[in-house]
Amino acid sequence: MSSTPQSPANQQAELHTRADLASLPAYVAGRTVPGAVKLASNETPHGPLPSVAQAIADAAAEVNRYPDMVSTALTERLSAELDVPTERITVGCGSVALCQQLVQAMCAPGEEVVYAWRSFEAYPIATQIANAAAVPVPLDETHAHDLDAMLAAITPATRLVFVCNPNNPTGTVVRREALTRFLDAVPPNVLVVLDEAYREFVADPDVPDGIELGRRYPNVLVLRTFSKAYGLAGLRVGYGVGPADVITALRKVYVPFSTNALAQRAAIASLDASDELLERCSAIVAERTRVADGLRDAGFEVPETQANFVWLPLGERTLEFTEHALEHKVVVRGFAGDGVRVTISAPEENDLFLAAARAFR
Ligand SMILES: *Cc1c(COP(=O)(O)O)cnc(C)c1O
Repeated sequence: MSSTPQSPANQQAELHTRADLASLPAYVAGRTVPGAVKLASNETPHGPLPSVAQAIADAAAEVNRYPDMVSTALTERLSAELDVPTERITVGCGSVALCQQLVQAMCAPGEEVVYAWRSFEAYPIATQIANAAAVPVPLDETHAHDLDAMLAAITPATRLVFVCNPNNPTGTVVRREALTRFLDAVPPNVLVVLDEAYREFVADPDVPDGIELGRRYPNVLVLRTFSKAYGLAGLRVGYGVGPADVITALRKVYVPFSTNALAQRAAIASLDASDELLERCSAIVAERTRVADGLRDAGFEVPETQANFVWLPLGERTLEFTEHALEHKVVVRGFAGDGVRVTISAPEENDLFLAAARAFR
C-alpha cells in the first residue's frame, strides 16, 4: 500500500454538522451483557418459528435483488387481515422509522408535536430531527396519559399527537371512553397517532382497537410492529394504518428500500402463524400477572400494565436498582431519576429477576 502524506481524515475538519444535534437525546438501546439475562428491550424470549425461519432463508436466496419498494404482498395481506383498503396502509423499517416519517410528513419547522412524557423515547428524537417543536405533557399520578392535559396542550400550531397505548415504558393504557372523548375534542386537522406496538399483549377489553377507531375518526393513524409479539425485532418491519392522504405523504419521506425483503417475507409468514405466535403472548400475559404480583408482595409499587413489561417507579433509586439487578445477572432498562422497565420473559428468567428484586434493599 502506498502511503499518502496526509489523509484528508487527519486534517482539522471544517464541516458544519447541525449545532442543535448536540442537544439531541441519544436513543439508548437495552444493553446486552454476556452471561446475563436481557430484560431490557421488550423482545420476545422465543426465536422464530421454523416456518418463519424458512421464509427468511428463502428470501435470503434472492438478496441480489432490491426489495419491493412498497411491500406490495405484505400490504395486501394486511389489507385483508384488517379489512382496510391498501391506500390506508404503509409498511416501514420498524414502526420507529414510521414515527420519524410521520413528523417529517406532518410538520414544517417549528410546528408542534404533542406527546406524553415519559413515553417512547423515539418521539422527542424524531421531533427534533425534523425541526419540529416538542410539547411533552407529564403523565398523571397513575403513570398514565393525562388526556385532558394533552388536549389543553394542542394549539393552532399542533400537527401531530402521539398516544402510546399501552405506554412504553409504564405499561399503562387509555381506555375506550377516555380515548373517544379525547378524539371527539381534538381538532379534526390534528393527526392523532395511536402507537400500538404492544397491542397483542392487551388483555383488558376496555382498551380500544385503534384500527376500529380509525374507521370512525378520519384523523387517526395507528402504528403497529412485528418486533414485539411477532418476534421479528432484528428484521425491522412495522406498519401504519391511517388516512390515505397521510399514507401518501409518509411514502414520500420513506427511505427507499429500507424495509428489506427478508423482513417482508417473514412478516407474511408470521401472519400465517399468528395463532401460534399469539398463544405465546397469552403465556407472557400470565407471567406478567405473576411477576407484578410477586413484585407487589415484595413491597414494590407496580402500576397496572397491559404490555410485555412492568414499570417500577423507583425515582432516585433507579440506577441503584439497575446496578443491583446486573449484579444478579439481569439486565433491565433504567430511566435515570424516573424508573425501571423490566421485560416479561420466560418463567425461569422472570424468576431470576424476581429473586434479584426481592434482594433489593
Ligand atoms: C418497540 C416500539 C416500537 C417499534 O419498534 P420497531 O422495532 O421500530 O417496529 C414503536 N413504538 C413503541 C412504543 C415501542 O415500544
